[in-house]
Amino acid sequence: HAKERGRNTYQFFTSDMNSAVLERLTIESGLREALENGAFFLEYQPQYDIKTHKLVGLEALIRWQHPEWGRVPPSRFIPIAEDSGLIVAIGEWVIREACRQNVYLQSLGFAKVPVAVNIASPQFIQRFEDLVERVLEESGMEPQYLELELTEGIVMQGEGAIQKRLHKLKDMGVKLAIDDFGTGYSSLSYLKRFPIDKLKIDQSFVRDIIDDQDDLAITRAVISLGHSLRLKVIAEGVETEQQLAFLREEGCDQAQGFYFSPPLSVKALGDWFFRELKKA
Ligand code: C2E
Ligand code: MG
Ligand code: MG
Ligand code: MG
Repeated sequence: HAKERGRNTYQFFTSDMNSAVLERLTIESGLREALENGAFFLEYQPQYDIKTHKLVGLEALIRWQHPEWGRVPPSRFIPIAEDSGLIVAIGEWVIREACRQNVYLQSLGFAKVPVAVNIASPQFIQRFEDLVERVLEESGMEPQYLELELTEGIVMQGEGAIQKRLHKLKDMGVKLAIDDFGTGYSSLSYLKRFPIDKLKIDQSFVRDIIDDQDDLAITRAVISLGHSLRLKVIAEGVETEQQLAFLREEGCDQAQGFYFSPPLSVKALGDWFFRELKKA
């Protein structure tokens, strides 16, 4: 078995003509193993209210610790998981784990804040709402503590069915956010028809908000659009005090990013929270 692993590792790093294909296959089989062996875990990035600096949410982000490759970043394996269909099983694990841990943290006295879970488009298949219902029931989590981060790609595919599904989720009490807003297929009319709660301004706009007039203009427009539609607006990838000051001035509601905190393990999150509690 070790020999097999060794060969895979070699393929992973090889740079011949087939390496892209081999890498995909290697990662794909690695993902299957990871699902079986429990090699995934979640980290949580805190989200803050910009005015009050209160914790308002946690975004769950998947992590993969491979025994030989070390940490494999989501940007490397999520696209492969999507293409191979493995994302359905992986995504199911993510929702379950996120709800389970949220209930656990709340039971310890952690702030009652929603957990935001990223949903890839192939996951949003038939009867996704049944999975959500089942997971909420199993975990005992109240629906308002689950937020689904959807991409523009998801809400744009197959109008009628998607619209129905979103309304079902909304009726269950789950929250819906649009991730990376402004980077996808941009027909804005879906905002009118779909029961969305929140827009997430993509970090590519936030990054240069200070120096780039266009990024500032887009950010300003998204905030104003969101507010006109009575949606909450959160900025992602906030790294500096200056960016935060701009966003505050523009009336952005919430922020997350390295300025506040990187994504944290559930243990680090708990330690940090209870340290703060003791200080207060
Ligand atoms: P995303 O949902 O837009 O998540 C934000 C990404 O930005 C995360 O990267 C996070 O670690 C990173 N980030 C947070 N603050 C900062 C900052 O201040 N500066 C910069 N430069 N980056 C920051 P991560 O964890 O590598 O995830 C990348 C993407 O992979 C996510 O983008 C999401 O699309 C996808 N992803 C992650 N976890 C899951 C999951 O459980 N399921 C699915 N379907 N996709 C996931
Ligand atoms: Mg996200
Ligand atoms: Mg995002
Ligand atoms: Mg992103």
